[in-house]
Amino acid sequence: MTVYNQLAYLDNAATTPMPDAVLEVIDNYYQKQKVNVHRGMYMLANEVTQQYEQVRQQVADFIHAPDVADIVFTSGATDALNLVAFGYGMTHLHAGDEIIISVMEHHSNLVPWQQVAKITGSKLRVVDITTDGRIDMISLQKMLNKHTKIVSLTLVSNVLGTYTDMHPIAKLVHEAGAVLLVDAAQAVAHIPIDVQAIEADFLAFSGHKMFGPTGVGVLYGRADLLAETNPTRFGGEMIDQVTKTTATFQPAPLKFEAGTPNIAGVLGLGAAIKYIYQKSYQTIAQIDHELIDHLMTGLAQIPAVTVYGSPIASDHQGVVSFNVDNVHAHDVATILDSAGVAVRSGHHCAEPLMHFLGTESVVRVSVSFENKLSEIDKLLAGVRQVKELLT
Ligand code: PMP
Repeated sequence: MTVYNQLAYLDNAATTPMPDAVLEVIDNYYQKQKVNVHRGMYMLANEVTQQYEQVRQQVADFIHAPDVADIVFTSGATDALNLVAFGYGMTHLHAGDEIIISVMEHHSNLVPWQQVAKITGSKLRVVDITTDGRIDMISLQKMLNKHTKIVSLTLVSNVLGTYTDMHPIAKLVHEAGAVLLVDAAQAVAHIPIDVQAIEADFLAFSGHKMFGPTGVGVLYGRADLLAETNPTRFGGEMIDQVTKTTATFQPAPLKFEAGTPNIAGVLGLGAAIKYIYQKSYQTIAQIDHELIDHLMTGLAQIPAVTVYGSPIASDHQGVVSFNVDNVHAHDVATILDSAGVAVRSGHHCAEPLMHFLGTESVVRVSVSFENKLSEIDKLLAGVRQVKELLT
């Protein structure tokens, strides 16, 4: 999949390329099938509705959800996280209640909670991480108490690449009587997800970070919790009955899917899941780890480089962030760009984590199993050039 020609694309944590199999499904929908879902009685409309609903089943199987009705299509992880914050949090949080997140959350798992905390009078608490980029379990245990209602944590950090073992956390969260929301946006292209094994109550991810299109994502919710979650958008297809002054709503998941959904996006997501199955997570993990190992070994040989988080390559799920002495990350990224290497630089929508790391910005390399070792070599040569030019 060489969609970027000569570019060594190492910004897969921002979005992954799409394979032909996904593009073909999307193209086919727009060329030959562009009808709406859940509405028309004619054959084509029924066919496309069926395909759309089959993807819901595919997603349920993909993340081991107990029931297809536990899968809500959203516009992405941000939308899914906002749905839990505003649809569940707004009615389940009261003055004095507490929400816990970690210092390494993406802004989309931080800012919605800040807003909901402000409106409900609840308190947002932020657990620190250890120097190797893991949730500080001792602090988390101390922080959990009878006031804790929601704990929302990322499965893989989009900056440090660290994977959090959620199952023991879920146990602690449930003992405290709270619910656990897992942000799997950065995890899903690298590791298989099993919501039942984790014991996640809610889980969110985006299609575009797992070889699918932009504008589509998923919220998984435990059935009883989705029943208690209010819709946050209202309109067509989410209603049961409507009078001039009142409306009743469909059960989950349709009550959360007001209006015409991203049909092409959902079909594309289905093709992306198939693509991951074809490659297999085992192969993906093996290639990811070879690439990261090569990258970290190379970076360790450049004295001016500081790598953030764990020094162990296998702790990084596809993502490594670093700085080169006191050179600004944007300057590093600009030099790498001129060498034909695409990486992201900045705060990566994780400003509290930047403060925690004692920096304003970092250079982030994020791989997918489509990358080649030669692309990592190109990056390493670029970083050596930065060191020679600017330090
Ligand atoms: N959480 C994490 C960990 C992420 O990396 C991202 C995307 N960078 C998001 C949430 C938000 O995803 P999206 O922008 O696709 O809604």
